[in-house]
Amino acid sequence: MDHSSQTLQNVREALAAVPELEVLTLPADLERYSRDAYDYSPVLADRFRECRAELVVRPRSRDAVVAVASVCARAQVPLTLRGSGTGNYGQCVPLKAGVVMLMNELRAVRSLDASTGVVEVECGCLLKDLDHALAEQQRQLRLMPSTWRSASVGGFIAGGSGGIGSVRWGFLRDPGHLLALEVVTLEAEPRILHLEATDAEALNHAYGTNGIITALTLTSAPRVAWHEVCIDCDDWSTAVALAQRCQQAAVELFLCTVLDAQIVAGLPAWSGASQGRHRLLLLVSPDGVSTVERIAAAAGAEARCLGAENAHRGNGLRELSWNHTTLHLRQQDPAWTYLQMLLPQPELEAMQALSQRWGDTLLWHLEGVRHAGASRMAAIPLVRWQGEEALQALIDHCRELGAVIFNPHVITVEEGGLGIVDGDQVAAKQRHDPAGLLNPGKLLGWTEA
Ligand code: FAD
Repeated sequence: MDHSSQTLQNVREALAAVPELEVLTLPADLERYSRDAYDYSPVLADRFRECRAELVVRPRSRDAVVAVASVCARAQVPLTLRGSGTGNYGQCVPLKAGVVMLMNELRAVRSLDASTGVVEVECGCLLKDLDHALAEQQRQLRLMPSTWRSASVGGFIAGGSGGIGSVRWGFLRDPGHLLALEVVTLEAEPRILHLEATDAEALNHAYGTNGIITALTLTSAPRVAWHEVCIDCDDWSTAVALAQRCQQAAVELFLCTVLDAQIVAGLPAWSGASQGRHRLLLLVSPDGVSTVERIAAAAGAEARCLGAENAHRGNGLRELSWNHTTLHLRQQDPAWTYLQMLLPQPELEAMQALSQRWGDTLLWHLEGVRHAGASRMAAIPLVRWQGEEALQALIDHCRELGAVIFNPHVITVEEGGLGIVDGDQVAAKQRHDPAGLLNPGKLLGWTEA
C-alpha cells in the first residue's frame, strides 16, 4: 500500500526538520533496508518481493526517535523498525510500505553493575560490542544468535529466540533474561515508558509491533574462556547419545551442536575435513574438556580440542552452529531450506521415522537446549526445497510424531511461534500503538481483532 504523494511529501518535510535524524530516499537505500535474510525461505521470498519502504530514517538520539514516532502517528503512516536486518522471516520488511527506522545509531552501554552483571544498553548496540563491554567486568552474554557479530540487541529481543547459550540458559522468553525496557509509544504525543520485567515481556519476540524499544536492561553471566571441542562419530545414534551425555554431565557447556555427516561435508574448508563422519561441536569450560574427551572415548568417538576460542580471531564453532549451518549449506546449494522444531522424546525414534520417509531431502542438525528447565534437543534440519505442498506434508508429519514446529516460512509472530495469540502482546499494542501503525501485518492477534 503506497501512501499518497501529498502525505509522503508532508512526512518527508516534517522529518527533514528533525535534528539528529538522517533521511534516506535513494531507491537503492529503500530497497536495501526493506529486506532481511528472508530468502532462506522460498515461500517468504515470493511474498516479500514487492515490499518496499517509501522513506528510511536513521535517528542518532532518543529525541529523534520520539519525533519520528510523532510524525508517523500524525500522518497515519506505518513505521517499521530495523536493527541489523539479519532476521530470517522478513520481520523488518515493511509489508504496508511507509517509513523504515534504522535503530543502529542508538548503541551506548548506559550502565553495567559490576556486582550483579545487570546491564542497561541502547537497542542498536551490536551483540558483539555488548559482549566486549561485558568482558571488561568479567561478564558475558547469556544468549546470542550465531549472527552475534552483526545483530543488534534490540533486534535479538524483538525478533530472536535463543541460540548459542541456549544449552545452559534456555530461551529469551524464559523469565530472568529481560529485566526492563525503555519504550517509545507511537502516538501524536509519544510517551517514553519504563517497563519493568512483567510488562516488558509483551514486547519480547513481538517483532517490534507493540512499541519502539530504545533501551534494554538484561542479565549477563560470569565470563568463561570457552574451549572448542569437535567430536567425530561413525553413526548417528552415537552422536545423539553423546550430545545427551555431555548435556547431562557435570560440565559447563555453551554450545552443543550435532551435525549429520552430509552437512559436515558442506561446511567451509576452515571448519576441518569431514571424513564422512557425523560431528558434535561443543563449547566447554576449560575444566570440562577432559570430561567430554573421556565421554567421547568411552563411546569410541574421536574428540579434538581446538583450544580456547579467544586464542584465535575470526570465525569459530559459533559460526557453524544454529542458522549459520543453514547459511553454509545454502551457499553450496540454494535449493536447501530449513525447518525449526523441538523434537518429541525419544528424539532418535522420531528422527528415524522422519528419515525413513524423507530420505536425503532431510538432513539432521540438532542443538542441545534447555527447555522448561530440562535438557532437550531442538532440530534445525536442512530441507530440500520441493515446493510448498511437500514442505507442508513434512511439517504435518513432524507434528503427527509430536514435534513442536516453529515455522520459519510464515509472516506473523504467532504462526512462527506456538500458533496461539498472546493477549498480552495485543494489549500492549493497544496501549503503545493504538492506530496499529507499527510493523503492520505481523501480529495476527491485532489483525484479527
Ligand atoms: P532485525 O532483523 O533488524 O529485526 C528483528 C525484529 O526486531 C524485526 O521485527 C524488527 O522490526 C524488530 N526490531 C528491531 N529493532 C527494534 C527496536 N529497537 N524496537 C522494537 N523492535 C525492533 N536468531 C536467533 O534467535 N538465534 C540464532 O541463533 C540465529 N541465527 C541466525 C543465523 C543466520 C545466518 C541468520 C541469517 C539469522 C539468524 N537468526 C537467529 C535471526 C537473527 O539474526 C537474530 O534474531 C538477530 O538477533 C536479529 O537482530 P537484528 O538486529 O538483525 O534484528
